[in-house]
Amino acid sequence: MYRTHTCGELRISHKKQEVTLSGWIQRLRKLGGMTFIDLRDRYGITQLVVDEKAADDLKEKVSKLGREFVIQTTGIVLERESKNNKIPTGEIEIDIKSITVLNKAETPPFTIQTDTDGGDELRMKYRYLDLRREVVRDNLVLRSKMAIIIRNYLDSLDFIETETPVLMKSTPEGARDFVVPSRMNPGEFYALPQSPQVFKQLLMVAGFDKYYQIVKCFRDEDLRADRQPEFTQIDCEMSFVEQEDVLATFEGLARHLFKEVKGIDPGIFPRIPYAEAMDKYGSDKPDTRFDMLFNDITEIAKGKEFSIFNNSEYIVAICAKGASEYSRKQLDALTNYVKRPQIGAKGLVYVKYNTDGTFKSSIDKFYDQNDFENWAKQCNANAGDLLLILSGNKFETQEQMCQLRLEMGRQLELIDKNQFNPLWVTDFPLLEWDDETQRYYAMHHPFTAPKPEDIELLESNPGQVRANAYDLVINGVEIGGGSVRIFDSALQSKMFKLLGFTEEQANAQFGFLMNAFKYGAPPHAGIAFGFDRLVSLFAGLDSIRDVIAFPKNNTGRDVMNDAPSQISEEQLKELFLKIALPQKQS
Ligand code: ASP
Repeated sequence: MYRTHTCGELRISHKKQEVTLSGWIQRLRKLGGMTFIDLRDRYGITQLVVDEKAADDLKEKVSKLGREFVIQTTGIVLERESKNNKIPTGEIEIDIKSITVLNKAETPPFTIQTDTDGGDELRMKYRYLDLRREVVRDNLVLRSKMAIIIRNYLDSLDFIETETPVLMKSTPEGARDFVVPSRMNPGEFYALPQSPQVFKQLLMVAGFDKYYQIVKCFRDEDLRADRQPEFTQIDCEMSFVEQEDVLATFEGLARHLFKEVKGIDPGIFPRIPYAEAMDKYGSDKPDTRFDMLFNDITEIAKGKEFSIFNNSEYIVAICAKGASEYSRKQLDALTNYVKRPQIGAKGLVYVKYNTDGTFKSSIDKFYDQNDFENWAKQCNANAGDLLLILSGNKFETQEQMCQLRLEMGRQLELIDKNQFNPLWVTDFPLLEWDDETQRYYAMHHPFTAPKPEDIELLESNPGQVRANAYDLVINGVEIGGGSVRIFDSALQSKMFKLLGFTEEQANAQFGFLMNAFKYGAPPHAGIAFGFDRLVSLFAGLDSIRDVIAFPKNNTGRDVMNDAPSQISEEQLKELFLKIALPQKQS
């Protein structure tokens, strides 16, 4: 038997018992003639002591131990003289009698403790060592717990967990596919699922009624902090439901998670139509933990000599409460912030509403105190506040102001990390126009149903058509999204046509789905949540990497096993593949 107890288990009540523990050596300390060893496993740390009076061969063995050696040891539980109230086993220590080295270890490249000295890259390269650290492991324990809570909850509502293929036909979700060549079908490829969208819809045709799956999805996109090429969704679909039923069911799931994991009741989730979210926050994923809402001052700011405003489609102001004392340097820094290429504003206008009631602005030349007072009124500003103004094309300016608002929220410390503000964004546009390719794209995906009252606009004004599509947003992070689906093959064909598919293309790619719809498809709707994001939010982390056991880095590489990698000539031949890399420029 390797152990009688774990390293997190022993208490004062075990005093005088003989116990056997196994684990990794976290730390070795010599104090006079005594040696102290911190022995670690997944459950905690227990202090071992080797007394001066211990047998020579034991002392000899102990002298050869090193950090991260795997040992088994037997000894007697003693009450500690100086207790450590920071750890649950801090009242006891083990007076060890024997030790067996189960495995030696090389000195690890970084310290295995909460504040490690290892940088990001190094910790990723030795991820199995990083995972030994309590802080990292705790995130994965939380992940496991949340998956179980979700499964139990959905199971209690009669959802059926169903696996769908990983090797499948491509389904567009707006990203590039990862593809897998088929050896048995030369020249043909599977795609890895961007989501199981079509399969879950087919399960509804099959009469499953309620489906879910905690499932890996793959999207070949440029990476950002909260993106991974493979990620996990809680994917769900229901039949004979309307939008309201889906929102109620999954608000229920989210509230249940908040209660079970965080012990909080976030209240009823507010609903904000997409158009309102864009007007007030310039974002379809608003962080509502603080106000600082957008004020459209286009009408009242135009008409003077300031051509930048006069030539702008949209002029928007936010009011930073109590920030009128911002220094020149701070304002310059804000200007540089919005001018960064990632944000892309051309400049920033400010109006200080001084505490004495006067105004000072970067555009004093063009406007007088009355103008500024007008703007201040529109923005509900008081003396002591600062107005920040951006202008330009509407959509881009909204996006830029959204970033500036968040930055001001951070600078003025208005964002409470411990607060959770979940909400639904509803009534998304069905389609999105792309200037570059001069065509419409589905904003959610091509299977999303238009709102019945907007169907008549499909021909005349497709850009105005709203969808029964919804997102769950928590603290400015999109946690999930879904829609009511088209379940009529004629409407689905029309949708494909709008999206620029010829009939042949639509048939080749989605014929099976439209065919299935001819055999009695029920009305259905669904949603998918980003499980990694959900866990990282609950763990209070910024990046989803920390809740994934073996994540990829930001160029999509697994730096631990060095994937992706080349394959052999034979493998390529077998797959009928030829690699044609671009010529290297010398
Ligand atoms: N398949 C969608 C997605 O991955 C979610 C859904 O519509 O259910 O975003």
